[in-house]
Amino acid sequence: MSEYLIANGIVVTLGEKNQVILDGAVYVKNGKIGDVGTTKELKAKYKCSVKVNAKNKVVLPGFICAHHHFYSTMARGFCPPGAPALTFQEILERLWWKLDKALHKDDVYYSALIPIIECIRNGTTTVIDHHASPSYRDGSLDLIADAVTEGGLRASLCYEVSDRNEPGAGIAENERFLKRMRSEKSEFLHGMMGLHASVTVSDDTLAKCRKGAEKYGAGYHIHVAEGVEDHTDSLKKYGVRTVERLVSRGICGKDSLFIHCINVDDKEMDLIKKSETTVVHNPESNMNNAVGVAKVLKMMSRGILVGLGTDGMASDMPAQMRCSYLVHRLDSRDPRVAFCEAPQMLLWNNAVIANKFFPVKVGVIEKGAAADFAILDYIPPTDMSANNFLGHFIFGMVDAVVDTTIVAGKILMENKKVLALDEEKIAAQSRKLAAKMWTRIS
Ligand SMILES: [Zn+2]
Repeated sequence: MSEYLIANGIVVTLGEKNQVILDGAVYVKNGKIGDVGTTKELKAKYKCSVKVNAKNKVVLPGFICAHHHFYSTMARGFCPPGAPALTFQEILERLWWKLDKALHKDDVYYSALIPIIECIRNGTTTVIDHHASPSYRDGSLDLIADAVTEGGLRASLCYEVSDRNEPGAGIAENERFLKRMRSEKSEFLHGMMGLHASVTVSDDTLAKCRKGAEKYGAGYHIHVAEGVEDHTDSLKKYGVRTVERLVSRGICGKDSLFIHCINVDDKEMDLIKKSETTVVHNPESNMNNAVGVAKVLKMMSRGILVGLGTDGMASDMPAQMRCSYLVHRLDSRDPRVAFCEAPQMLLWNNAVIANKFFPVKVGVIEKGAAADFAILDYIPPTDMSANNFLGHFIFGMVDAVVDTTIVAGKILMENKKVLALDEEKIAAQSRKLAAKMWTRIS
């Protein structure tokens, strides 16, 4: 039996009844949370050692990223040849579709390990990833699963089906991985039916994706109305807007994720709500690609579940939260908005999403939940309680350095040193592989 205490910290439980416990402690037993209370209470109750001294630190549930692209790692520092892309379609054609095609077997594995290290560094313990590597497609999800397992995180994986190289490419890889997930019943890994976007999949491909997803009871993970091209293409080819097309073909539902949803109207929001589909907001990526501001505050007020992702831009979730907070204030020219909604997306809604996929409860510090933690250096300069926690989170903790990251009771990073993986060695190998890969693109 493995048991220990995290003690002397400020414990923020989140969950339905968020509690801020000053001089708090958590009792960890066999990868789960056994108890939560004050340090004095838990030290008297349990005779095990204090393994993590959280003095001058805040103990939060590990952060969750609801949309990531591990494979985008090797784009860092790369300058795409030719003129700068003007439209979103050009960004895809000149950078991403060339880059993903240049990924070989080792690139897939190493480009997953690097963001996994960055997740550990940022206290992100659960990730929902969306992968593409047309030149090394079959078996690619197993390589990423290996990297996730070595890093010690929890991840939901899928391959983005697209007709752009070959009709229906990637459906078999998703089905193969879903079959594996069904037999393994892993606490750490999960599969979805990934699709790139409406603009790159025919109706025939959508029907095949649906057949495959239904066979395994899987949800869909698809970019929706990100660039205006997705919207105009759907109107031109099918006579309906993007969401209407997807929902009418059954590509939706309570286990499905619509990523971005920038160019959607009121009718499409009604369809998203009615189909119980979740929307994932990626504000930094949207700003980077200059595609517009998703009206997620409106969606939330209509009862749509909206989570927060990074879209491969980064693995730092509090930074993404603050970006969301700022962009919606600017966009609405209303300083009353987003104070509650931006943290809601990250700290509560992402937990609702992850808890649909994983058999252990994540995103909350309570008895029986997974022992997944992000422990941040933060000494509150003013009184802190459950009533004003959001103010501390948005304006203080967002810049706090993560000191310790724990998943299922296993310490992946301690005193800012990543223990789970050899960061220097992996980065050195990644640089070598990226240099070769870039020559294949150029
Ligand atoms: Zn994406």
